[in-house]
Amino acid sequence: MRRLHGRVVLASHNAGKVREFHALMAPFGIELVSAGALGLPEPEETGSTFEANALLKARAAAHAAGLPALSDDSGFSLEALGGAPDIYSARWAAPSKDFAVAMRKVEAALQARRATTPEARRAWFTCVLAIAWPDGDAVAFRGEVHGTAVWPPRGEHGFGYDPVFVPDGGTRTFGEMTPEAKDAISHRAQAFAKLKAACLD
Ligand code: IMP
Repeated sequence: MRRLHGRVVLASHNAGKVREFHALMAPFGIELVSAGALGLPEPEETGSTFEANALLKARAAAHAAGLPALSDDSGFSLEALGGAPDIYSARWAAPSKDFAVAMRKVEAALQARRATTPEARRAWFTCVLAIAWPDGDAVAFRGEVHGTAVWPPRGEHGFGYDPVFVPDGGTRTFGEMTPEAKDAISHRAQAFAKLKAACLD
């Protein structure tokens, strides 16, 4: 597997993700530059899987910048909803980008299916991290964390759907956990551990 060195483009215009990945990559001597800072356009996410979307974002950034690129595609899924919102997790908060709205939509859909017991409210987060090189070579790593959807939302930490997700084996929502506690088990941390083993020195 090819290793990452030197400058790497982060194929994201999301300031939160840029900060988070900067901290993750710094110990490996990687200088992360954001796609936004380089003025790269955001490609349309036309894939039907997390892998497809992560790979298309990384490939577009690597091609445009002439540097290796890292991307993240992630989302929240409910078993009772056939996996939805899944790759459309950000879009359920649209157009206001308000995740209080998105969490209410999820809860309304669960209630419509009479999903009231913990067993009926199985949920998981997925994160796929992709790396692409300017010559088109690319690789993707998947992490998942499984648990239960709860209502009402709890906690002020984190982002997105964190306040309605309790990981298996715990009692607190991701929104109630410190960033360190979430990072010890999260989907993103699991995908990053695989990426680290394969591509970082
Ligand atoms: P993306 O930026 O297109 O990959 O959209 C991912 C969406 O999934 C985010 O906007 C969040 O709503 C949701 N999501 C992904 N990871 C997490 C997480 O760790 N906590 C809460 N929500 C998440």
